[in-house]
Amino acid sequence: MVFQKLASDQFEQLVFCHDESVGLKAIISVHTTVLGPAVGGCRMWNYKDEQEALTDVLRLSKGMTYKAAISGLNWGGGKAVILGDSKTQKNPAMLARFGEYVERLGGTYVTAKDVGIGSDDLKAVKTRTRHVLGIDGVAGSSGDPSPATGWGTYHGMKACAKAAFGTDSLKGLTIAVQGLGSVAYYLIEHLVAEGAKVIGCDVDQAVIDRAVKKYGIETVRPDAIYDVACDIFSPNALGAVINPETLPRLKTKVVAGAANNQLLSAAEGHELMKRGILYAPDYAINAGGLINIYYEGGQAGQNGYSKEAAFAHCERIGQTVAQILERAAAEKKPTFLMADQIVEERLAKARAAKK
Ligand code: NAD
Repeated sequence: MVFQKLASDQFEQLVFCHDESVGLKAIISVHTTVLGPAVGGCRMWNYKDEQEALTDVLRLSKGMTYKAAISGLNWGGGKAVILGDSKTQKNPAMLARFGEYVERLGGTYVTAKDVGIGSDDLKAVKTRTRHVLGIDGVAGSSGDPSPATGWGTYHGMKACAKAAFGTDSLKGLTIAVQGLGSVAYYLIEHLVAEGAKVIGCDVDQAVIDRAVKKYGIETVRPDAIYDVACDIFSPNALGAVINPETLPRLKTKVVAGAANNQLLSAAEGHELMKRGILYAPDYAINAGGLINIYYEGGQAGQNGYSKEAAFAHCERIGQTVAQILERAAAEKKPTFLMADQIVEERLAKARAAKK
Protein backbone atom coordinates (compact mmCIF):
# COMPACT_ATOMS: atom_id res chain seq x y z
CA MET A 1 0.00 0.00 0.00
CA VAL A 2 2.82 2.40 0.86
CA PHE A 3 4.58 1.96 -2.48
CA GLN A 4 1.27 2.38 -4.29
CA LYS A 5 0.80 5.75 -2.58
CA LEU A 6 4.41 6.78 -3.26
CA ALA A 7 3.99 5.88 -6.93
CA SER A 8 0.68 7.70 -7.31
CA ASP A 9 2.22 11.06 -6.42
CA GLN A 10 5.81 10.35 -7.45
CA PHE A 11 7.28 10.49 -3.95
CA GLU A 12 11.01 9.85 -3.88
CA GLN A 13 11.82 8.77 -0.36
CA LEU A 14 10.27 8.00 2.98
CA VAL A 15 12.45 7.61 6.07
CA PHE A 16 11.27 6.09 9.34
CA CYS A 17 13.41 7.23 12.26
CA HIS A 18 13.35 5.35 15.53
CA ASP A 19 15.32 5.50 18.78
CA GLU A 20 13.55 4.17 21.83
CA SER A 21 16.24 5.43 24.22
CA VAL A 22 15.24 9.05 23.50
CA GLY A 23 11.59 8.40 22.62
CA LEU A 24 12.00 9.29 18.95
CA LYS A 25 9.50 8.11 16.38
CA ALA A 26 9.62 10.27 13.28
CA ILE A 27 8.92 10.10 9.58
CA ILE A 28 10.69 12.22 6.97
CA SER A 29 9.08 12.47 3.54
CA VAL A 30 11.02 13.68 0.53
CA HIS A 31 8.41 14.32 -2.12
CA THR A 32 10.74 15.42 -4.85
CA THR A 33 14.21 16.86 -5.34
CA VAL A 34 13.77 17.46 -9.05
CA LEU A 35 14.01 21.25 -8.58
CA GLY A 36 16.39 21.21 -5.60
CA PRO A 37 16.63 20.08 -1.97
CA ALA A 38 13.37 19.02 -0.36
CA VAL A 39 12.62 21.74 2.19
CA GLY A 40 9.85 21.70 4.77
CA GLY A 41 9.30 22.08 8.48
CA CYS A 42 9.24 19.43 11.17
CA ARG A 43 5.90 19.06 12.95
CA MET A 44 5.47 17.38 16.32
CA TRP A 45 1.94 16.14 16.82
CA ASN A 46 0.12 13.60 18.93
CA TYR A 47 -1.27 11.58 16.03
CA LYS A 48 -4.11 9.15 16.61
CA ASP A 49 -2.01 6.42 15.00
CA GLU A 50 0.89 5.81 12.63
CA GLN A 51 -1.37 5.87 9.58
CA GLU A 52 -2.52 9.39 10.42
CA ALA A 53 1.12 10.52 10.79
CA LEU A 54 2.08 8.93 7.49
CA THR A 55 -0.86 10.48 5.65
CA ASP A 56 -0.01 13.89 7.11
CA VAL A 57 3.68 13.84 6.26
CA LEU A 58 3.00 12.73 2.69
CA ARG A 59 0.31 15.37 2.16
CA LEU A 60 2.38 18.16 3.70
CA SER A 61 5.58 17.32 1.81
CA LYS A 62 3.73 17.27 -1.51
CA GLY A 63 2.19 20.61 -0.58
CA MET A 64 5.67 22.05 -0.05
CA THR A 65 6.68 20.96 -3.56
CA TYR A 66 3.74 22.84 -5.01
CA LYS A 67 4.35 25.99 -2.96
CA ALA A 68 8.04 26.13 -3.86
CA ALA A 69 7.50 25.33 -7.53
CA ILE A 70 4.71 27.86 -8.13
CA SER A 71 6.90 30.52 -6.50
CA GLY A 72 9.81 29.90 -8.85
CA LEU A 73 12.07 28.54 -6.11
CA ASN A 74 14.65 25.88 -6.89
CA TRP A 75 13.50 23.75 -4.01
CA GLY A 76 11.58 20.53 -3.78
CA GLY A 77 9.09 19.60 -1.09
CA GLY A 78 9.81 17.73 2.10
CA LYS A 79 8.37 17.47 5.59
CA ALA A 80 9.04 15.63 8.82
CA VAL A 81 6.71 14.60 11.59
CA ILE A 82 7.70 13.54 15.09
CA LEU A 83 5.01 11.42 16.71
CA GLY A 84 4.17 12.53 20.25
CA ASP A 85 2.94 15.32 22.45
CA SER A 86 5.15 18.37 21.98
CA LYS A 87 4.23 19.65 25.45
CA THR A 88 5.15 16.56 27.44
CA GLN A 89 7.31 14.27 25.27
CA LYS A 90 9.79 16.58 23.57
CA ASN A 91 13.38 16.58 24.82
CA PRO A 92 16.75 17.87 23.52
CA ALA A 93 18.20 14.35 23.13
CA MET A 94 15.27 13.35 20.91
CA LEU A 95 15.69 16.46 18.78
CA ALA A 96 19.45 15.94 18.46
CA ARG A 97 18.83 12.35 17.36
CA PHE A 98 16.31 13.61 14.82
CA GLY A 99 19.08 15.95 13.61
CA GLU A 100 21.32 12.95 13.01
CA TYR A 101 18.70 11.41 10.75
CA VAL A 102 18.40 14.69 8.83
CA GLU A 103 22.19 14.84 8.50
CA ARG A 104 22.31 11.30 7.13
CA LEU A 105 20.20 12.49 4.20
CA GLY A 106 23.10 14.73 3.22
CA GLY A 107 21.04 17.82 2.35
CA THR A 108 18.36 15.97 0.39
CA TYR A 109 15.98 17.12 3.12
CA VAL A 110 16.29 20.50 4.90
CA THR A 111 14.22 21.00 8.03
CA ALA A 112 12.61 24.06 9.67
CA LYS A 113 9.91 24.99 12.21
CA ASP A 114 6.32 23.83 12.12
CA VAL A 115 3.53 23.18 14.60
CA GLY A 116 5.04 21.96 17.90
CA ILE A 117 8.63 22.69 16.88
CA GLY A 118 10.08 26.14 17.60
CA SER A 119 13.41 27.89 17.28
CA ASP A 120 14.81 26.48 20.53
CA ASP A 121 14.00 22.96 19.35
CA LEU A 122 15.75 23.65 16.05
CA LYS A 123 18.85 24.71 17.97
CA ALA A 124 18.97 21.17 19.43
CA VAL A 125 18.45 19.70 15.94
CA LYS A 126 21.23 21.89 14.61
CA THR A 127 23.77 20.39 17.03
CA ARG A 128 23.80 17.37 14.68
CA THR A 129 23.03 18.72 11.23
CA ARG A 130 23.74 21.70 9.01
CA HIS A 131 20.49 21.22 7.15
CA VAL A 132 18.23 23.51 9.21
CA LEU A 133 16.70 26.84 8.24
CA GLY A 134 14.62 29.47 10.04
CA ILE A 135 16.07 29.60 13.54
CA ASP A 136 15.03 32.96 14.99
CA GLY A 137 17.53 35.24 16.61
CA VAL A 138 20.72 33.76 15.17
CA ALA A 139 23.00 35.55 12.74
CA GLY A 140 21.83 35.30 9.11
CA SER A 141 18.30 34.21 10.09
CA SER A 142 15.30 35.37 8.09
CA GLY A 143 13.27 35.82 11.31
CA ASP A 144 9.48 36.00 11.57
CA PRO A 145 7.95 35.00 8.20
CA SER A 146 4.68 36.90 8.78
CA PRO A 147 5.72 40.31 7.34
CA ALA A 148 6.87 38.58 4.13
CA THR A 149 3.68 36.53 3.94
CA GLY A 150 1.62 39.69 4.47
CA TRP A 151 3.57 41.52 1.75
CA GLY A 152 3.15 38.68 -0.75
CA THR A 153 -0.55 38.25 0.05
CA TYR A 154 -1.08 41.97 -0.50
CA HIS A 155 0.48 41.78 -3.98
CA GLY A 156 -1.52 38.65 -4.80
CA MET A 157 -4.66 40.49 -3.75
CA LYS A 158 -3.81 43.40 -6.07
CA ALA A 159 -3.46 40.95 -8.97
CA CYS A 160 -6.94 39.61 -8.14
CA ALA A 161 -8.34 43.16 -8.02
CA LYS A 162 -6.89 43.84 -11.47
CA ALA A 163 -8.53 40.71 -12.88
CA ALA A 164 -11.87 41.27 -11.13
CA PHE A 165 -12.24 45.07 -11.21
CA GLY A 166 -9.88 46.20 -13.97
CA THR A 167 -7.43 48.02 -11.70
CA ASP A 168 -4.94 46.77 -9.18
CA SER A 169 -5.69 49.66 -6.84
CA LEU A 170 -7.40 48.60 -3.61
CA LYS A 171 -8.48 52.15 -2.85
CA GLY A 172 -12.14 52.28 -1.88
CA LEU A 173 -12.56 48.49 -1.88
CA THR A 174 -14.15 46.75 1.09
CA ILE A 175 -12.04 43.85 2.30
CA ALA A 176 -13.35 41.35 4.88
CA VAL A 177 -10.41 39.92 6.79
CA GLN A 178 -10.96 36.73 8.77
CA GLY A 179 -8.32 36.41 11.49
CA LEU A 180 -6.27 39.37 12.69
CA GLY A 181 -3.19 37.40 13.80
CA SER A 182 0.46 37.58 12.75
CA VAL A 183 0.05 37.68 8.96
CA ALA A 184 -3.14 39.75 8.90
CA TYR A 185 -1.56 42.36 11.13
CA TYR A 186 1.01 43.12 8.42
CA LEU A 187 -1.39 42.61 5.53
CA ILE A 188 -3.89 45.13 6.91
CA GLU A 189 -1.17 47.76 7.18
CA HIS A 190 -0.78 47.69 3.37
CA LEU A 191 -4.54 47.58 2.75
CA VAL A 192 -5.27 50.55 4.97
CA ALA A 193 -2.31 52.51 3.57
CA GLU A 194 -3.79 52.07 0.10
CA GLY A 195 -7.21 53.32 1.18
CA ALA A 196 -9.15 50.07 1.41
CA LYS A 197 -11.94 49.71 3.96
CA VAL A 198 -11.14 46.72 6.19
CA ILE A 199 -13.75 44.82 8.18
CA GLY A 200 -12.09 42.23 10.38
CA CYS A 201 -12.84 39.53 12.90
CA ASP A 202 -11.02 37.26 15.32
CA VAL A 203 -11.87 34.95 18.20
CA ASP A 204 -9.24 36.55 20.43
CA GLN A 205 -10.27 39.90 21.96
CA ALA A 206 -6.67 40.99 22.60
CA VAL A 207 -5.83 40.46 18.92
CA ILE A 208 -8.95 42.42 17.89
CA ASP A 209 -8.04 45.28 20.22
CA ARG A 210 -4.51 45.43 18.82
CA ALA A 211 -5.74 45.71 15.22
CA VAL A 212 -8.46 48.25 16.04
CA LYS A 213 -6.04 50.40 18.00
CA LYS A 214 -3.39 50.35 15.29
CA TYR A 215 -5.54 50.63 12.15
CA GLY A 216 -8.96 51.84 13.33
CA ILE A 217 -10.71 49.04 11.41
CA GLU A 218 -14.30 47.95 11.87
CA THR A 219 -14.93 44.49 13.27
CA VAL A 220 -17.75 41.95 13.29
CA ARG A 221 -18.41 38.72 15.23
CA PRO A 222 -16.36 35.79 13.87
CA ASP A 223 -19.32 34.00 12.33
CA ALA A 224 -20.70 37.17 10.74
CA ILE A 225 -17.63 37.65 8.52
CA TYR A 226 -19.08 35.36 5.81
CA ASP A 227 -22.12 37.63 5.46
CA VAL A 228 -20.21 40.89 5.02
CA ALA A 229 -20.87 42.47 1.63
CA CYS A 230 -17.36 43.06 0.32
CA ASP A 231 -15.14 43.16 -2.76
CA ILE A 232 -12.54 40.76 -1.36
CA PHE A 233 -12.95 38.08 1.29
CA SER A 234 -9.58 37.31 2.87
CA PRO A 235 -9.18 34.15 4.99
CA ASN A 236 -6.21 34.49 7.36
CA ALA A 237 -7.12 32.17 10.20
CA LEU A 238 -8.00 28.54 9.64
CA GLY A 239 -8.21 25.99 6.84
CA ALA A 240 -11.41 24.65 5.20
CA VAL A 241 -13.27 27.94 5.68
CA ILE A 242 -14.70 27.73 2.17
CA ASN A 243 -17.16 24.89 2.61
CA PRO A 244 -20.79 24.06 1.76
CA GLU A 245 -22.05 26.01 4.78
CA THR A 246 -20.05 29.21 4.22
CA LEU A 247 -19.72 29.43 0.45
CA PRO A 248 -23.38 30.29 -0.34
CA ARG A 249 -23.18 33.11 2.21
CA LEU A 250 -20.20 34.90 0.60
CA LYS A 251 -21.04 38.27 -0.93
CA THR A 252 -17.73 38.90 -2.62
CA LYS A 253 -16.07 38.88 -6.03
CA VAL A 254 -12.69 37.61 -4.80
CA VAL A 255 -11.32 35.18 -2.20
CA ALA A 256 -7.68 35.99 -1.46
CA GLY A 257 -5.89 35.37 1.82
CA ALA A 258 -2.96 33.73 3.53
CA ALA A 259 -4.63 30.79 5.28
CA ASN A 260 -3.51 27.32 4.23
CA ASN A 261 -5.94 24.82 2.68
CA GLN A 262 -8.84 27.27 2.38
CA LEU A 263 -11.04 24.99 0.28
CA LEU A 264 -12.67 22.10 2.13
CA SER A 265 -12.50 20.08 -1.09
CA ALA A 266 -12.13 20.43 -4.85
CA ALA A 267 -15.91 20.84 -5.11
CA GLU A 268 -15.66 24.30 -3.49
CA GLY A 269 -13.02 25.34 -6.05
CA HIS A 270 -15.43 24.43 -8.85
CA GLU A 271 -18.35 26.11 -7.09
CA LEU A 272 -16.46 29.39 -6.64
CA MET A 273 -15.79 29.46 -10.37
CA LYS A 274 -19.44 28.70 -11.13
CA ARG A 275 -20.49 31.65 -8.98
CA GLY A 276 -18.00 33.98 -10.67
CA ILE A 277 -15.87 34.39 -7.54
CA LEU A 278 -12.17 34.65 -8.29
CA TYR A 279 -10.08 32.47 -6.01
CA ALA A 280 -6.37 33.11 -5.46
CA PRO A 281 -4.90 29.61 -4.88
CA ASP A 282 -3.74 29.59 -1.26
CA TYR A 283 -0.33 28.05 -1.73
CA ALA A 284 0.56 30.60 -4.41
CA ILE A 285 -0.60 33.74 -2.62
CA ASN A 286 0.71 32.74 0.84
CA ALA A 287 4.20 31.63 -0.21
CA GLY A 288 5.92 34.76 1.17
CA GLY A 289 7.16 32.97 4.29
CA LEU A 290 8.78 30.20 2.25
CA ILE A 291 10.25 32.70 -0.19
CA ASN A 292 11.65 34.64 2.77
CA ILE A 293 13.46 31.60 4.13
CA TYR A 294 14.80 30.75 0.66
CA TYR A 295 16.87 33.91 0.86
CA GLU A 296 18.42 32.62 4.09
CA GLY A 297 19.67 29.42 2.53
CA GLY A 298 22.16 30.92 0.11
CA GLN A 299 20.08 29.30 -2.66
CA ALA A 300 19.72 32.58 -4.45
CA GLY A 301 23.48 33.04 -4.58
CA GLN A 302 23.73 35.60 -1.80
CA ASN A 303 25.66 35.24 1.40
CA GLY A 304 23.35 35.36 4.42
CA TYR A 305 19.77 36.57 4.53
CA SER A 306 18.81 39.44 2.26
CA LYS A 307 15.51 41.08 3.23
CA GLU A 308 15.55 43.27 0.14
CA ALA A 309 15.86 40.32 -2.25
CA ALA A 310 13.31 38.30 -0.29
CA PHE A 311 10.68 41.05 -0.32
CA ALA A 312 11.29 41.78 -4.01
CA HIS A 313 10.58 38.11 -4.70
CA CYS A 314 7.45 38.20 -2.49
CA GLU A 315 6.22 41.14 -4.56
CA ARG A 316 6.39 38.90 -7.64
CA ILE A 317 3.62 36.78 -6.09
CA GLY A 318 1.44 39.38 -7.82
CA GLN A 319 2.73 38.23 -11.21
CA THR A 320 2.39 34.57 -10.25
CA VAL A 321 -1.24 35.02 -9.21
CA ALA A 322 -1.96 37.10 -12.33
CA GLN A 323 -0.51 34.34 -14.53
CA ILE A 324 -2.67 31.69 -12.82
CA LEU A 325 -5.83 33.82 -13.19
CA GLU A 326 -5.13 34.63 -16.84
CA ARG A 327 -4.45 31.04 -17.85
CA ALA A 328 -7.43 29.79 -15.84
CA ALA A 329 -9.68 32.27 -17.67
CA ALA A 330 -8.23 31.37 -21.06
CA GLU A 331 -8.50 27.61 -20.45
CA LYS A 332 -11.85 27.91 -18.59
CA LYS A 333 -10.53 26.05 -15.56
CA PRO A 334 -10.88 26.71 -11.84
CA THR A 335 -7.85 28.62 -10.57
CA PHE A 336 -6.86 25.96 -8.01
CA LEU A 337 -6.53 23.37 -10.78
CA MET A 338 -4.67 25.85 -12.99
CA ALA A 339 -2.08 26.42 -10.27
CA ASP A 340 -1.56 22.67 -9.90
CA GLN A 341 -1.19 22.33 -13.65
CA ILE A 342 1.45 25.08 -13.83
CA VAL A 343 3.43 23.30 -11.09
CA GLU A 344 3.10 19.93 -12.78
CA GLU A 345 4.30 21.41 -16.07
CA ARG A 346 7.37 22.84 -14.32
CA LEU A 347 8.13 19.52 -12.64
CA ALA A 348 7.66 17.53 -15.85
CA LYS A 349 10.03 19.85 -17.68
CA ALA A 350 12.65 19.52 -14.95
CA ARG A 351 12.27 15.72 -14.88
CA ALA A 352 12.65 15.55 -18.66
CA ALA A 353 15.74 17.76 -18.54
CA LYS A 354 17.33 15.47 -15.92
CA LYS A 355 16.87 12.33 -18.05
P1 NAD B 1 -1.91 33.38 13.88
O1 NAD B 1 -2.19 32.25 14.80
O2 NAD B 1 -0.96 34.43 14.30
O3 NAD B 1 -3.27 34.12 13.46
C1 NAD B 1 -4.45 33.44 13.22
C2 NAD B 1 -5.56 34.22 13.91
O4 NAD B 1 -6.81 33.62 13.55
C3 NAD B 1 -5.47 34.22 15.43
O5 NAD B 1 -5.46 35.55 15.91
C4 NAD B 1 -6.72 33.47 15.87
O6 NAD B 1 -7.25 33.95 17.07
C5 NAD B 1 -7.64 33.72 14.69
N1 NAD B 1 -8.75 32.77 14.58
C6 NAD B 1 -8.80 31.46 14.90
N2 NAD B 1 -10.01 30.95 14.64
C7 NAD B 1 -10.75 31.96 14.12
C8 NAD B 1 -12.08 32.06 13.65
N3 NAD B 1 -12.90 31.02 13.66
N4 NAD B 1 -12.49 33.26 13.18
C9 NAD B 1 -11.68 34.33 13.17
N5 NAD B 1 -10.42 34.29 13.60
C10 NAD B 1 -9.95 33.12 14.08
O7 NAD B 1 -1.44 32.69 12.51
P2 NAD B 1 -0.72 33.39 11.27
O8 NAD B 1 0.72 33.09 11.33
O9 NAD B 1 -1.19 34.78 11.11
O10 NAD B 1 -1.30 32.50 10.09
C11 NAD B 1 -2.62 32.67 9.61
C12 NAD B 1 -2.90 31.66 8.52
O11 NAD B 1 -1.96 31.83 7.47
C13 NAD B 1 -2.76 30.20 8.95
O12 NAD B 1 -3.68 29.43 8.22
C14 NAD B 1 -1.36 29.84 8.53
O13 NAD B 1 -1.22 28.45 8.31
C15 NAD B 1 -1.25 30.62 7.24
N6 NAD B 1 0.12 30.95 6.83
C16 NAD B 1 0.92 31.69 7.66
C17 NAD B 1 2.20 32.00 7.24
C18 NAD B 1 3.11 32.85 8.10
O14 NAD B 1 4.11 33.37 7.58
N7 NAD B 1 2.82 33.04 9.37
C19 NAD B 1 2.67 31.56 6.00
C20 NAD B 1 1.82 30.83 5.18
C21 NAD B 1 0.54 30.53 5.61
